[in-house]
Amino acid sequence: MSHSVTVIGLGPMGQAMAGAYLDRGYEVTVWNRTPSRAAALVERGARLAATPEEALRANDLVVLSLIDYDAMYTALQGAEAAVAGRVLVNLSSDVPEKARAAARWVTDLGGTHLTGGVLSPPPTIGSPDMSTFYSGPREAYDTHREALEVITGQTDYRGEDPGTAALMYQLNMVVFWPAMLAYWQAVALAGAHGISAAELAPYVAGNHEGMRQFIDFYAPRIDAGNHEGDVDRISMGMASMEHVVHTNADAGVDTAFPQAVLDAFRRGADAGHGADSFSKLVDLLRKPA
Ligand code: NDP
Repeated sequence: MSHSVTVIGLGPMGQAMAGAYLDRGYEVTVWNRTPSRAAALVERGARLAATPEEALRANDLVVLSLIDYDAMYTALQGAEAAVAGRVLVNLSSDVPEKARAAARWVTDLGGTHLTGGVLSPPPTIGSPDMSTFYSGPREAYDTHREALEVITGQTDYRGEDPGTAALMYQLNMVVFWPAMLAYWQAVALAGAHGISAAELAPYVAGNHEGMRQFIDFYAPRIDAGNHEGDVDRISMGMASMEHVVHTNADAGVDTAFPQAVLDAFRRGADAGHGADSFSKLVDLLRKPA
């Protein structure tokens, strides 16, 4: 059980993680390319390492929170010898292949790599309700689980493949970014009609909350290959998306994003699936257009 930890990378996430460890009484060593970002943490008792090598050598457990995986190689350049014998928990987000390559790199240096996929924004780091994906060597996960539960109270171990936690993260981002962009689109359109973001908020939030029932309804049907047009049809979705595009265009708002959605519906209709459920689009999305 480790009660000391190193945190490398002090963006909003790394700062929140180091802060959560300090809150829980851990001895925390930090390093950041821009040392000034450590000031508030040092004031709270963290130790600022002068070099990445010193940061690594300070603890067996090292949490990395950098913009991406390439930044790890840059940050640890010259400190490679200090990786041996340490567990590096990489909570930077990137593609699964980069996580696998990083795991090989760390392993070749004699260390252990755990991939983390953290979905929680900085203000919720340390919360008992949030969960983070992990994958990599089970033994390292089991050994450090208690320390990982400081970052988010729950952990979701997804197996030995270091790419899996990164994949689970990406699957969530595939939904998150476009969903938020759809919201920004609605805010822009509402604004063109004098409706403020705050006024719109409860309606859009209600819409998002309702997404769960759609996902729960469609998931088993998709897995069963059932795209029956008994509840909705691609032709209906296409007409509706045309209205969305025109409502935006009429208000002088950008239409690129709704147009991309309309194009996907049109692809489905053009392929002869107008009478099928719009879940049939999953089959079309399995291959590039
Ligand atoms: P950033 O993604 O902006 O990452 C900033 C950190 O990366 C800083 O410590 C920065 O150092 C460091 N860095 C960037 N390039 C290099 C480099 N070439 N060499 C060394 N260090 C480098 O900040 P966040 O804290 O927001 O995000 C960290 C990770 O967490 C990202 O992968 C992000 O996708 C993920 N994430 C973020 C969430 C959020 O809401 N913010 C939520 C969930 C995941 P410096 O200070 O010197 O610039």
